[in-house]
Amino acid sequence: MKIIIIGAGIGGCSTFLFLHKYLNHTYATSSVSSPSSSPHQILLLEAHPNPLVTQKHIGGGLGLAPNGLRALELLGLGIPEKIVKRGVVMPFAEARSSYPAPDGGEEGKEVYLGLVTMGGEKRYGWSNVMCERGMVHEIVLEEALKVDNGRDVKSGQKVVGVRQRHDPSDGQGGVQIEFQDGGIEYADLVVGADGVWSQVRDVVVGHHVEPHFEGLTGTGGWLNPSILTRTTPPNSKQPSSPFVMTFTPNGFFGYTPCRTAFDRSNSPCETDGVTTRPTAENERSKTEPLAMWWSSYEAPTPPPRDGPQDQIKAQIKARHQGSGDEVIQRIISHICDGEEIEAGDKLKDQDEGKLLVLPTFITPILETWHRVFEADGVVTGGLVLLGDAAHAMPPNSGQGVSSAAEDAATLALLISHYVSSPPAAVDSTTSSSIRAQDLMALKHVLPAYTGLRKPHVDKILTLARKLGNSKRVLTPRQCWFRDWFMWALFKLPEGWMNDWKFGWNVEKEVEKVLKTEKSGWWGWSK
Ligand SMILES: Cc1cc2nc3c(=O)[nH]c(=O)nc-3n(C[C@H](O)[C@H](O)[C@H](O)COP(=O)(O)OP(=O)(O)OC[C@H]3O[C@@H](n4cnc5c(N)ncnc54)[C@H](O)[C@@H]3O)c2cc1C
Repeated sequence: MKIIIIGAGIGGCSTFLFLHKYLNHTYATSSVSSPSSSPHQILLLEAHPNPLVTQKHIGGGLGLAPNGLRALELLGLGIPEKIVKRGVVMPFAEARSSYPAPDGGEEGKEVYLGLVTMGGEKRYGWSNVMCERGMVHEIVLEEALKVDNGRDVKSGQKVVGVRQRHDPSDGQGGVQIEFQDGGIEYADLVVGADGVWSQVRDVVVGHHVEPHFEGLTGTGGWLNPSILTRTTPPNSKQPSSPFVMTFTPNGFFGYTPCRTAFDRSNSPCETDGVTTRPTAENERSKTEPLAMWWSSYEAPTPPPRDGPQDQIKAQIKARHQGSGDEVIQRIISHICDGEEIEAGDKLKDQDEGKLLVLPTFITPILETWHRVFEADGVVTGGLVLLGDAAHAMPPNSGQGVSSAAEDAATLALLISHYVSSPPAAVDSTTSSSIRAQDLMALKHVLPAYTGLRKPHVDKILTLARKLGNSKRVLTPRQCWFRDWFMWALFKLPEGWMNDWKFGWNVEKEVEKVLKTEKSGWWGWSK
């Protein structure tokens, strides 16, 4: 079977790796497979000429939840270990609310709301990790490029059209993919991992889905972690965390350490679709520790990402200057007034200074995540969505990467169960009948995948959107209710709050589906 994954973001790279693991058994014998030993052809195509650069520029920091790390662990490539090593383990965050002084003075009022559980190792096997989005992408892309020396990972391949091919009798696949440069490819299965602005999504659902501005924008940047040091002694009755989330009447401010120093001399690479080579920037052998800050606020229209930085700084200052948190005040003075950080070295190059502006675009909850193409009752191909293409997660869900990794693992496990793994060398008659069987199997794989993942992710999406409302402009009464609600919420037991999400286990969930199906009438198990 020929599978083409569109989009080499974290979701696409993970899918490529999972399909290689479960379908082609690439890592069973060695970390690099030889082309002739792969029974199924798997291609990973990316629009950007250099996906690492894209991610570096659009990506800020993120929290990778225990369920995401556990899903990536299934690859057996040491990916979660690498992420933990470079990021900062953060099982808790401290939540506060902050109100400006009524007389307009500098010192506002702070209310301690509690400690938010982000997922700890003891309960979930992995702890939540705060890290750079670009670093996670770098790690999965690097692994993808190791498979067959990057032969099947191609960048600069912008897809402009995906359609059913009515006569795939030449064995080339029933889905036609058109590229911006006029090129055409065919596949049996296309995986749309092409993000929020997905092209594949419209064909899957049968109408255009326009991402819309959620009304919230995140601004943020990198900092030297020394700026987060508190000079006031912590209240021993209030458990604290270096990750602090502050809710205000007109937005949100968060800060956390997100990178430990590490040696990257053998690490990142640049891909031009053919070769892998180190970039000048990445040749820097030691990376400094890093912290990040971000602020979310409500606005009627999305601000331009590359708008004047002075305007953004003035807005941040107006919203948070009166905060009762000395760290927020110091961050504001540093980013808005250029105040030097006293301790520690200044961070180098892109790490500090530039503000990121990230308006949140979301899509409605989709009716389906897959489509099977048939002609005269015979399956000719299929389309399936995952990651942000299927469910654009608001950043506050903390589940974007984790959900994409779980989607990828679930899809690959289900495909591997239904689809054959023939030896590479079979005669053409046998191979075409195996292929026909594999195509028919898509009729079971794709609904099973959507049926398993979509209800779970829909629940995460719905809750995240509700939580996002607490970052909008609120009346004093709404603020009081929010504080009370959060205070009560953070007192609830961790398992009650988080087991359904952080405890989601890909292998067990897939097994449950397959067991249910075995007791059904079609008996498709291998
Ligand atoms: C500000 C911000 C904060 C976030 N915070 C968190 C967080 O705290 N925790 C968390 O887990 N997640 C967070 N996320 C989300 C997370 O980064 C994504 O959910 C995750 O990376 C999954 O993305 P993806 O691979 O599905 O899509 P993307 O990362 O968008 O990748 C899609 C890829 O497809 C390519 N592509 C698009 N169109 C085409 C085309 N036509 N042809 C070929 N290629 C194409 C793109 O170039 C891109 O490389 C955040 C996101 C943002 C923007």
